[in-house]
Amino acid sequence: MSNYIVTVKQVPDITQITGNAFNPETGTLKRGTLPSVINKLDADALAFANKMKHLSPGKIVCLTMGPPKSSEVLTYSLSRCADHAVLLTDRVLGGADTPATANPLAYAIRKIAKDIFNGNDDYVVISGMQSVDGDTAQVPAQIAEELQIPCIAYATEVESINGKFRIEKIVSGGNQWVSPKALPYVVTVANYEYPLFASFRRSRWANKFAVINWTADDIKPTLFGYDGSKTRVTRVFPPPKGARKNKHCHNIDEFVKELVSTYKKGRSSGAFEGEETDYIVPSDRPGGLFQRNYEGTDKEINAYKQVTQALSKLGITKVDQLNESLVERVQEHLQEKLTKKMLQEMIEGYKTTQTSYSGDVWVIAEHDGKKTNDVTCELLGKATHLAKPLGVRVGVVIAGYQCKHMANDLIAAGADDVHIIEDVLLEDFRPGPYRNAVVDAIKKHNPQIVLFGATPQGRVLAPMIAYRLGCGLTADCTSLDIRDNSRQGNIAILMQTRPALGGNIMATIITKDSKIQMATARLGVMKKNRPDHSRKGNIIEHSVTLAESDVGFDIIKTELSGGSANLSNADVVVSGGRGLRNKDNYDKLVSDLAAVIRKKLDCQVELGASRAAVEQGFINRTHQVGQTGTAVSPRLYIALGISGAIQHLIGIENSEIIVAINSDPLAPIFKHSDYYMVGNAEEIVPQITEALRH
Ligand code: FAD
Repeated sequence: MSNYIVTVKQVPDITQITGNAFNPETGTLKRGTLPSVINKLDADALAFANKMKHLSPGKIVCLTMGPPKSSEVLTYSLSRCADHAVLLTDRVLGGADTPATANPLAYAIRKIAKDIFNGNDDYVVISGMQSVDGDTAQVPAQIAEELQIPCIAYATEVESINGKFRIEKIVSGGNQWVSPKALPYVVTVANYEYPLFASFRRSRWANKFAVINWTADDIKPTLFGYDGSKTRVTRVFPPPKGARKNKHCHNIDEFVKELVSTYKKGRSSGAFEGEETDYIVPSDRPGGLFQRNYEGTDKEINAYKQVTQALSKLGITKVDQLNESLVERVQEHLQEKLTKKMLQEMIEGYKTTQTSYSGDVWVIAEHDGKKTNDVTCELLGKATHLAKPLGVRVGVVIAGYQCKHMANDLIAAGADDVHIIEDVLLEDFRPGPYRNAVVDAIKKHNPQIVLFGATPQGRVLAPMIAYRLGCGLTADCTSLDIRDNSRQGNIAILMQTRPALGGNIMATIITKDSKIQMATARLGVMKKNRPDHSRKGNIIEHSVTLAESDVGFDIIKTELSGGSANLSNADVVVSGGRGLRNKDNYDKLVSDLAAVIRKKLDCQVELGASRAAVEQGFINRTHQVGQTGTAVSPRLYIALGISGAIQHLIGIENSEIIVAINSDPLAPIFKHSDYYMVGNAEEIVPQITEALRH
């Protein structure tokens, strides 16, 4: 017997987002323009809890934090399967980022165990892996960290064997069955589509149910609201407009001609690092101490430019020339009027010319025991460029068992220092021992930036480490840059830019009140360095004391796909979606087209799929492209029978050319394509394949 606590969240229905849902000035979502719904993965979490309850009876308590209106999501949960409902509502809890959300939720969970389960700690916390608005997947792992209990992330199925739960979860490249060692623990659900329906009788009961209301005073959290948050949004802006050609092709010959000729004209190699950072620390700038690479709103950037010019005209070149009396003199030189307070702050901020953080730039490596994965090399490419203007070293941490042999490749990929942590408990990835090993190394060496892959491993490990070290973390970054920020003079800060609200807006986030800036980035987004085997680096071996009690769960079996999907490095990805109707069609249409292209264009072609196609069993999960699959950046991406849901588009936006075939003339994918044909893929694709043969 165990009890279940399901965290649920009310979110805007982002599937209904239109252009006018945003405030054009600020780029933020206009409140009230969209209906509110239960976060889809939280509905999955409820169904998952319901299955667990059938396997091992107990109470289900649903818990949400938000304004009073969010009790609607509790009524929804009660009408499906929950037995109790708790609403955590208090103004002081608002404006929180992930640790400041996880902390009050964890305190509420402790109180639920005490008050509702009568002090019984035999419970499972079940959460949706991520919410569609925040989209970080950090909160559940950080709840586990605050409660100091294991976290089993990316769950997709549960069963009971001899009275013990077995949970199936997604891991990089496949799936794994695990068995939790003891209660309590957190499970995050990545997908469990067994919708629960509300009967008339249960809905009536749910509507009358007296939801328990708690305020911050009832739970006494230690980290909450804006002040308890470790990150701050500095800028919100629309996603860059895709300069896609959107050309509708009406016949096969035209389509094939465009496809082949644009492929041949395309870039020669996109796999290696092309972007150089333009950041220079103020003290190294030829223009002087007061030249800044400022990041902020357009208005702030402009103000900075003007004030810097004014200081130069006034002959101010040294910090000791900066004083209060300058405010009026500077004001005379400005085209645009700035408030006295803003100017005072800026002049005060100019006194700081040293970087705000110190330490190296680190990457946490991911590997399969034999070699490191692509995201590690991509992050090393990015780390090299971040470290250069800061004048610091690039470090990489590799934790595992007998993993030393990977060090030289990591040095060739850009690492100056390879920190090796070996222990038999690190042989397979389990968050507890890995967290302890990496935290230990970080505490010894104090890097200023730590980067993780946004993979099933990184997305659970990074939030736990960030929470343990009291640091901010930004998930799924698509760009990382060093800039100066804030009038108070924050120098050389990591700007962490990521899509939000399902890719409808971009947000640049910085870390606050933390010693380390941490971020995760998805596979295929950052570019690798060209491997240089002549590079020299240090190998630093760490010893760490790990305990069997940190392990949390036993691994029963792991099924990997066999590594056929090398999606992130492919020149061409041919993907099929639900529109291909069945596995036979997928196999025939997608594989035949891929084989012909491979021959015709003499390049690496891989097979991809939408999540719906994976769920229908057309191909295994390692081929899934998109937000929860692989982000790809091929020279040519071909989408067959794929609608173009935002979660899919996020994973293909870095493709050089996108072509699509869909029977629906209004399919959203067309707006994101360079060339498209409207029609039945089952008829069109064989004709394209045939045309390409010649
Ligand atoms: P559908 O949306 O059903 O589209 C099928 C398309 O096929 C339609 O446009 C239809 O017009 C067309 N079609 C039908 N018949 C034919 C025919 N004969 N010929 C040609 N066209 C035809 N999805 C992903 O892909 N990747 C992800 O990583 C991902 N992550 C997600 C994460 C979360 C948290 C959530 C909530 C969802 C995620 N999804 C993801 C799911 C996503 O929202 C969509 O449900 C999914 O992408 C739809 O797949 P699809 O386009 O194949 O299917």
